[in-house]
Amino acid sequence: MNNKVVIVGCGNVGMSYAYSLINQNTVVTELVLVDIAKEKTEGEAMDLSHGIPFAPSKIKIRTGSYDECRDAKIVCICAGANQNPGETRLELIKRNYNLFKVLIPNIMKSGFNGIFIVATNPVDAMSYFTYKLSGLPHNKVIGSGTSLDTSRLRFLISDKLGINPKNIHAYVLGEHGDSEFIPWCNASIGLKSIYQFLKQRELDELSENVKNVAYEIIKRKKVTNYGIGMCLSYITNAILKDENSIICVSTYDEKNNIYISMPCILNINGIKNKVSFPLSYEENKKLNNSINIIKYAINKIEAEENN
Ligand code: NAD
Repeated sequence: MNNKVVIVGCGNVGMSYAYSLINQNTVVTELVLVDIAKEKTEGEAMDLSHGIPFAPSKIKIRTGSYDECRDAKIVCICAGANQNPGETRLELIKRNYNLFKVLIPNIMKSGFNGIFIVATNPVDAMSYFTYKLSGLPHNKVIGSGTSLDTSRLRFLISDKLGINPKNIHAYVLGEHGDSEFIPWCNASIGLKSIYQFLKQRELDELSENVKNVAYEIIKRKKVTNYGIGMCLSYITNAILKDENSIICVSTYDEKNNIYISMPCILNINGIKNKVSFPLSYEENKKLNNSINIIKYAINKIEAEENN
């Protein structure tokens, strides 16, 4: 079976995703790199291809244009501006919206009818704009959302307690940004509630660390790329291998007409279902805060467009 993936935007994030994909047991058979920086991208494709003899599976890698999206199963968008030190993700919205206004229609002109994975920040708003500009059904437009924050959380808990992160069942929900939150009532390690392992003070500290760690990385190396690259390949494999895996991704919230992160079941059709779960009064307040922040950011752009 031909499983073609097109990466649009082959900078730090796009190339880390590509590198992660070829190093995993992926079912991707063709990887096409699309970027306005044509010469650099050709170099990336050549360099990456030279590693294929060591890769667990055979993948054809080349550069191309938006036309390549026509028969792609997945188009992953990593194009756009990234944060400067101290800048929030939301501050990128206008620049990246202007880019998507051109980019998404160009991809759709190819006849693309697969699944979009969006990584560009602010990812909830950019996923929403991808959904609106593409006209695809919302199960086929997925934002990486808080999958990365969730993986950061599991790593930090695992590091603290010396327990395999795969046995840590905790999620980061809401905005992929400063208003994200962790519903601790639903968090467990193995079969035991997280409250049996960690005190409230430690949980609060973990929440703050997860929220702020991207700023810490950007302060030190200007970008974050490896973690998100691995998240994107994990999401890609969950889709193409029809895994029905539960991953926290940014998805359409019909009631509020926004994209926001919730645990979702992912398979070959994209998002199969959202996973519902109870939230405490305080957690509901945090969720509403995230909803309002995303809604405000989207509405501001839409109002500017309509004027
Ligand atoms: P980068 O500057 O290294 O790469 C961006 C790439 O996009 C460049 O190669 C540029 O040439 C390309 N590009 C620009 N316009 C294009 C177009 N019209 N068509 C094709 N390519 C185009 O930036 P980066 O560090 O890779 O970050 C990319 C995005 O990912 C940023 O918005 C960043 O904030 C975001 N990001 C998201 C997460 C997440 O968790 N979702 C994590 C890290 C970074």
